[in-house]
Order: sequence, then C-alpha cells, then structure tokens
Amino acid sequence: MSDTLFGKIIRREIPADIVYEDDEVLAFRDVNPQAPVHVLFIPKRPLATLDDAVAGDAELLGKLLLACAAYAKREGFAQQGYRTVINCNEHGGQTVFHLHVHLLAGRRMHWPPG
Ligand code: AMP
Repeated sequence: MSDTLFGKIIRREIPADIVYEDDEVLAFRDVNPQAPVHVLFIPKRPLATLDDAVAGDAELLGKLLLACAAYAKREGFAQQGYRTVINCNEHGGQTVFHLHVHLLAGRRMHWPPG
C-alpha cells in the first residue's frame, strides 16, 4: 500500500472529502482547489507516477479517466467542459507520488498551462 498522503486517505488515516469510490478508484476534493471543481481521481493500487505504468495498467488507467467522465456527467458540467491533468515527476509539477488525475471544472481553462 502506498505510503504517501493519498495512501493514508485510502486507508482512512487522514480525512478527505470523498466524492466517488469503487473497488479500484477513489476520488476526493483537492485541499487547494484551482477551480470551482477540483477533484483528484486515484487508483487504490499504488502506482507512483504515470511513468511507472506498464501495459498491465491499461485497464486501470482507462477506469480512472472513465470515472472522471462519469463524474462530470453526473455533476452536470460535462457539456460545458472540464480539464483532466496528470502531472508526472519534477518538470510535470508532481508533488504527491501516488498517481492521480486532476479533474478541473467550473471556469474556462487557459492554454498553454503555466
Ligand atoms: P500534484 O502536484 O499533481 O502531485 O498534485 C497533488 C495535489 O494534491 C495538489 O493539488 C494538492 O493540493 C493536493 N493535496 C495535497 N494534500 C492533499 C490532501 N490531504 N487532500 C486533498 N488534496 C491534497
């Protein structure tokens, strides 16, 4: 099990505002939201970075993205739009080394990202 902050959230050792859970995926609100909606989708199975993913993780990665899309539809902002982001390692801006997909919505996003 992952010994990061997110591993502790999975094990309910620290609190989080959980918005979705199934056997393989957990989603909770980011403590430092960068948009009106900012939710993190993580695999329960620890995977430090996207760079660590292998072919056998393809289904899990797909499930993470599908969970984001389902959440956007359920919460009613899918049509208006949203952004998903995976930061990987130092230059990607990753700070928590348990793979996570950021789902951002509720405002217009800019491109390129800063
Ligand atoms: P990243 O920089 O892509 O690794 O993103 C890590 C994210 O985790 C940041 O957006 C943080 O605000 C968020 N974060 C850190 N600690 C917590 C926590 N205890 N609960 C929820 N989100 C957190």
